[in-house]
Amino acid sequence: QRTPIIAGNWKMHKTIQEARDFVRAVRSFLPGGKVETVICAPFTALAALVEELHNYPAAIGAQNVHWEESGAYTGEISPGMLVEIGVKYVIIGHSERREYFAETDETVNRKAKAAFAHGLLPIVCVGENLEQRESGKTKELVRDQVIRAVEGLSSEQAKQLVIAYEPVWAIGTGKSSSAEDAQEVIAFIRSMVEDAFDSQVASQVRIQYGGSVKPDNIMAYLEQPDIDGALVGGASLAPDSFLQLVEAVR
Ligand code: 13P
Repeated sequence: QRTPIIAGNWKMHKTIQEARDFVRAVRSFLPGGKVETVICAPFTALAALVEELHNYPAAIGAQNVHWEESGAYTGEISPGMLVEIGVKYVIIGHSERREYFAETDETVNRKAKAAFAHGLLPIVCVGENLEQRESGKTKELVRDQVIRAVEGLSSEQAKQLVIAYEPVWAIGTGKSSSAEDAQEVIAFIRSMVEDAFDSQVASQVRIQYGGSVKPDNIMAYLEQPDIDGALVGGASLAPDSFLQLVEAVR
């Protein structure tokens, strides 16, 4: 009953022209209905993508947002500014932002609340690094990140949340988590959502896997009962592999 969501995270790739060329190549092949397709692009390309995908079955996402609606925050973009463009989703708390741009569980929570308040849907990223994994702290760490991210959200909001479980050691490394390991952590995340809200919210929240997902391994994740799609970096950049990822949903 949960619609799988396949989201490309382009990170700091593609100019406006490259973004237009990409969607012109894929848009007439996008399947609708059984899969939700999202492209999370750099801020500069968002308006062009919304325009190019008008009337096609794909939504646009940003990769960051500020928690205030306006103010003296040089260089920041507010939720309302994204909504005005026609952006539907926003990635919050990606590990690259946690590592390089001082994102914390607290700012993730503020951003998630602000996103919902303005009608943007957050894709909240969580996941352990290699050291945490090797010392057996994965669940403890992920539980903390999830609980703190959803603090203060209403049940109605939490139902619409997307969580992306992205083990840091699997991002951009070609070393993906096994589907069974990802399923185990993602089922655990779902149980955390149940503790924080209730079983109805837990059964509706969508939880993706991310980290070296490719056309040739995505099926194994999608077959797992708790994995509702993927958040994909590198393999979302070329039109043919992006389409193969989206078409993997049956
Ligand atoms: P890769 O798919 O390139 O490993 O990146 C994953 C990711 O960080 C998506 O947000």
